[in-house]
Amino acid sequence: MAKEIIRQLKLYLEFLQEMGVEYLPRTQSREKPRPPATAHQQRVEKKPPPSRAELTAPSPQANPQLEAVRAEMGDCKRCPLWKERKTLVFGEGNPWARLMFVGEAPGREEDLQGRPFVGQAGKLLDQFLQTIGLSREDVYIANILKCRPPGNRTPQPHEIEQCFPFLLKQIQAIKPRIICCLGGVAAQSLVRQRVAITRLRGQFIPWRWGIELFLTFHPAYLLRNPGQKKNAMQDFLKVKEKLEGLG
Ligand code: SF4
Repeated sequence: MAKEIIRQLKLYLEFLQEMGVEYLPRTQSREKPRPPATAHQQRVEKKPPPSRAELTAPSPQANPQLEAVRAEMGDCKRCPLWKERKTLVFGEGNPWARLMFVGEAPGREEDLQGRPFVGQAGKLLDQFLQTIGLSREDVYIANILKCRPPGNRTPQPHEIEQCFPFLLKQIQAIKPRIICCLGGVAAQSLVRQRVAITRLRGQFIPWRWGIELFLTFHPAYLLRNPGQKKNAMQDFLKVKEKLEGLG
């Protein structure tokens, strides 16, 4: 366990170094000494542990509207991609997230695990999130297509047409304030026109339902073009700033 934490920390520090970060500021512990417990606190601390019924009760985080979208999709066979998929990758994260990421389609690892962005590209996304003080649990991550195209080929228009309405329903259920499009396919599908990601990247575009779209590189592209990682880092910092501005 400790070895794994050290390995992760080392990887993260290497990532920061790659992004041009040369030092980390020292921070002082903000934890103040605890005052003596009041009678009320003592009663609260003596409270028995939650019962099994309490533990299995629906989480206050649950989003029934989002769950209804998943139920509606069922074992979807609306386009031919179902034939070769191992798992339908619906999406995951905070069902009430203010920031949502939309990628292209599941890859091999995602298809096997049933989770979005879990391969090398996913690890890179995690690192960017970590750098702006967020984790997967804070955001929601989904794709335009929920099933893997054979050999990770580019999604076809008729596949997008069948799957896209479910993404719209996911967005309506989650109600994010910002959607970060990862790569050209996601951007084009949401903007509904051809988009040169290199031209529009790093910009916020007013979209529907009061949501702003933000365009940046797909992490898989960054793995092939590491020279663009610093630009991507700037993009993530812009998103952070925007989120902070939203309060
Ligand atoms: S890609 Fe979308 S529309 Fe096609 S089978 Fe999978 S879930 Fe259904």
